[in-house]
Amino acid sequence: MQYEGPDDFKEQNGYEVNGTWYPRVTRILDVIPKPALKYFFREMGSQEAADKVTKKSAEEGTLVHEMCQSLAVGENVHVPESVAPSVFAFYDFYKKNNIHFHPEFIEKTIWSVEHKYAGTIDALAEIDGKFGVLDIKTSTGVFDTYGYQTAAYMQALVEESVHKALALPRQVEKRWILRIDQHRLCRLCSARLREKGGRKKIRNAYSQKAKVCDHSWTEPMGEVQLHWLDSKNVDNNYYEYLRDANQFNDAKAKWTHQNRYWLEQIGYFS
Ligand SMILES: [Zn+2]
Repeated sequence: MQYEGPDDFKEQNGYEVNGTWYPRVTRILDVIPKPALKYFFREMGSQEAADKVTKKSAEEGTLVHEMCQSLAVGENVHVPESVAPSVFAFYDFYKKNNIHFHPEFIEKTIWSVEHKYAGTIDALAEIDGKFGVLDIKTSTGVFDTYGYQTAAYMQALVEESVHKALALPRQVEKRWILRIDQHRLCRLCSARLREKGGRKKIRNAYSQKAKVCDHSWTEPMGEVQLHWLDSKNVDNNYYEYLRDANQFNDAKAKWTHQNRYWLEQIGYFS
């Protein structure tokens, strides 16, 4: 990647926290190849078409995040129709499952002094008496990189100076992915239609019945899944966290190496 200068590099890769520049967690994780992207680009036919879908899809994701984060702190929001099934499914789920959000730790910047990176957490939450990092994803599945991302956040939050600076009420001990999505079901066969970024994708459409079906779609329905990245019923078991944190730290080392020229220029190593 080309940069116009040190400021451009800084701007595109991270931000300042308390006067120190740090690279972003999500930027660092870009060094990990995403195999699914290859198929996505092939299917979209052109870079331009793919970019358009990616951009719109990201906007929808941001909207879902904003709506859910506002509802989680008790704010009234006007929910646009396009994301209403997802947002209302989130609200139902959150009320029924005894999830407690900490309003002061929603969309909050975190950083690691020791490992020199920063990020923005979606939320800190208490679920079933456990305290941890909750990340919202508007995706069809839970991918390995979600574990690395949340482990990076946890690794920062358990640093003593960061814990103190943020005045965390408890030690962070768990990580969750709250996956929120929406789709339509065919009333006649088992196919599902997912619309994201203006792109329609039909799944489970390979049965003989579905192949010849004229599909009669329901209204979009929201879907919410809480995924525990760390063992739910075991305390003080940091196996999954440490495994994921190692993966993140490896990615960080790779990212640092790839960007050593600019990092050197901006005095990151000093
Ligand atoms: Zn059908």
